[in-house]
Amino acid sequence: MTELLPWLDQVELAPPLAEEAAAAVAGALGELAQGQVYPRSLAAAHGGLFFLMRRGLDKFLGCLSADAGLGQRFTGQHSQVQVDGRTLQLTVAPTTGANAAALRTLLPYLVARPLGLRKSAGCGDRLGLATPGHIRALRATFGRDEDAAMAPIFAQQSIRENARTGRTPQEVMDDAMWGVFQEGWRAGFGADADHLKTLADVDICAAAGYTFYTVDPGDHVDDEANTAAFPALEARVDALPWDVLDSSPADLAARLADRPIDLGTLKVTLDRETLWRAAAKYGRAVAHTVTMYRHLAGAMGERPFELEMSVDETATVTSLAEHVYIAAELQRLGVRCVSLAPRYVGTFEKGVDYIGDLDAFEQSIAQHMAVSRTFGPYKLSLHSGSDKFSIYPIASRVAGDLVHLKTAGTSYLEALRAIAAMAPDLFRQIVAFARERYPTDRASYHVSAELEKMPDIAGWPDDRLPELLNDFHAREILHVTFGSVLNHPPFREPFFTALRTHEETYSEMLERHFCRHFAPFAG
Ligand SMILES: [Zn+2]
Repeated sequence: MTELLPWLDQVELAPPLAEEAAAAVAGALGELAQGQVYPRSLAAAHGGLFFLMRRGLDKFLGCLSADAGLGQRFTGQHSQVQVDGRTLQLTVAPTTGANAAALRTLLPYLVARPLGLRKSAGCGDRLGLATPGHIRALRATFGRDEDAAMAPIFAQQSIRENARTGRTPQEVMDDAMWGVFQEGWRAGFGADADHLKTLADVDICAAAGYTFYTVDPGDHVDDEANTAAFPALEARVDALPWDVLDSSPADLAARLADRPIDLGTLKVTLDRETLWRAAAKYGRAVAHTVTMYRHLAGAMGERPFELEMSVDETATVTSLAEHVYIAAELQRLGVRCVSLAPRYVGTFEKGVDYIGDLDAFEQSIAQHMAVSRTFGPYKLSLHSGSDKFSIYPIASRVAGDLVHLKTAGTSYLEALRAIAAMAPDLFRQIVAFARERYPTDRASYHVSAELEKMPDIAGWPDDRLPELLNDFHAREILHVTFGSVLNHPPFREPFFTALRTHEETYSEMLERHFCRHFAPFAG
């Protein structure tokens, strides 16, 4: 056990242990603590050695130190152990919220932080088990220099998803943190409070330490403004909340109508009708974003944060003129965005590739990029970004570093692929149940899958089942039913047990799948 002692003199956080040393230290600690220690979790600091370990299906935080006070910061089992004639303190503590909070105060890389204008990837994880796989994919794609990777967001969940998965924003944050600890990811990560709609949503997420706030004013977007007759349009513009906008129709016209706006690679002039349509459509959304932003700034106080505005879940496409209107207004009102998600051309359905004309997408994202470089710069955010393999090279080429890729459902689908491989009977039951639920559950999503076109797996041998996850219709049907599946009592326990038992399998599947997401953004 001589390998342990040198690590107990580190006051500052020591660099990560080399692979061989980590394996030896993890082995020795595992004997002492009677568990399986994750070698990459090892962190020497504050005169102690911190680690994550597994006993059966449960995970525990461990701390070995000479000083008894260090381990006492955690609620768990404290014991004395002998190592090479020295008496040391060993703490084994459950992975509770309180212990997560205590660990954050000791290891700063476990605290979510703003990511700035680096290209970034949101890795939503509805199960709280996917972060290790996401980290492995980042390492496999971007190599050992972790600061050069896409900056990751590991905690990312909307209030809607929280309601469906039964987790709180704090639990989402803690689950991601334990994954970061397990894999020893020290290059930082963000936490995205996704699709926030109300001031109350902001408060809950600010309290949980989120750093990236996606304000979704989609309910305030007037999709009829694109087609309304002009007199009706005038009335809609007059009725905007001009007090919040701190402006007036005359002021708006004076600032933006009928004058060339230089966007670098192109110039655009908004005639009054175009401007009025843009204002009628997005004026209330801008006002709502301003209100949310100011409230957020108050809630965060001195803590740094980033803001994204997303209007991706609306019916009509965001035009160049409309993006100019939004960007100019946010800039004038002092709202600084790190990213913005317009509603792009084409169709972004959940968990499947982009549906639409790739040339049209390239042209449109290039225009949006010109606006973001002029009024920001801020990143363009690709929502429903899971599995949009055909547009990643385009987005990467056009946006360079100014891109944020947001995924979530695809990690759930990979979990189902793992279940298909590891628990085929359970998988068959889930598929049958999802078929029943689909007509109801599809209501709140934009999907086109048809039940009749989903392959019938009844005659398939078990070893073919993971292939079902390659089918367009199956992917969408299984994706939108995730809430029903996770909340169906007969499934919940066996579902999580299978994934915890076969943790490595799930991580390997995620790694393979996310390498396909990240590779087009490398280099
Ligand atoms: Zn979205």
